[in-house]
Amino acid sequence: MFIADAHCDTLYAIAIEGTRPESCVVTPERMAAGGVGLQTFALFCGKHGPAGTPYADALAMLNVAGQAGVPILTGDLPDAPPQAPTGVFSCEGGEMVEGSLERFHEFQRKLRLRMIALTWNFENEIGHPAAEGPKGGLKPFGFELLKAMDAEGVLADTSHLNEAGFWDVCERAALPPIASHSDCRWLCDVPRNLRKEQVKALVERGGFIGVNFYSCFLREDGRATLDDAVRHIDELCALGAEHVVGFGSDFDGIESWPEGLGHPGQFGNLLDALRRRGYTEAQLEGIAGLNLWNLLKRAEAARRA
Ligand SMILES: [Zn+2]
Repeated sequence: MFIADAHCDTLYAIAIEGTRPESCVVTPERMAAGGVGLQTFALFCGKHGPAGTPYADALAMLNVAGQAGVPILTGDLPDAPPQAPTGVFSCEGGEMVEGSLERFHEFQRKLRLRMIALTWNFENEIGHPAAEGPKGGLKPFGFELLKAMDAEGVLADTSHLNEAGFWDVCERAALPPIASHSDCRWLCDVPRNLRKEQVKALVERGGFIGVNFYSCFLREDGRATLDDAVRHIDELCALGAEHVVGFGSDFDGIESWPEGLGHPGQFGNLLDALRRRGYTEAQLEGIAGLNLWNLLKRAEAARRA
């Protein structure tokens, strides 16, 4: 079964934290063992907000991208989902473009970003983070960037964005909005998770929700098990998200995870749990990878049109 993951911080771990590639959670060996065909590798540039050096950090991560050990696609996606471990680029923290559309296009030419998380946990040139409360929508540059992203087939990732910004994206983005690594807020009340109305909006737009494996986003007491991950997927599907839900593991960016869900070789444990719960093979194929893959293909087609 083709497995895709919408978010990991492996390039940050290698380039900025100095983790040796073989000591990362996401490795080519584990991807192959788990059947992961597509891993989204984030350029995580938001750690210090615009006060840091997001552009330089992005270049540092790009420099080590080869050390991830899998080919990262910077052109059109193949017709069929890749069988062997492959990567694509995303951005986490839109301050990476430092308020410049030119920089966005420069990255786009080099990397073919598939999605941009507009903020991390700090206010930037684009908008405001969930970490700082629900108020304050996208800024003028945010709307400009959104338009450029739409034209380039880059999905707006609302994970980390606050609620006012989320609704601005839903209203203004031509491409379906996504939340690459967020869970259900009504099951675990943290600002990084989605409210039911937000989930319904993403379902309506045909977007994507990547379930985050961080224990503290799955359960408020942080003692999450595989069953909690199943529960979040159940609740999303109960709101109609069957064709919208998938994985956003956040590997190499989280400190705790359910036992049996700690690295790319273990996606199968979650799929087995869902299978036992009664999900059909067709549903599992969507959740495992095709929901994300199909959206990426649609975004690419929109770019060409
Ligand atoms: Zn994140």
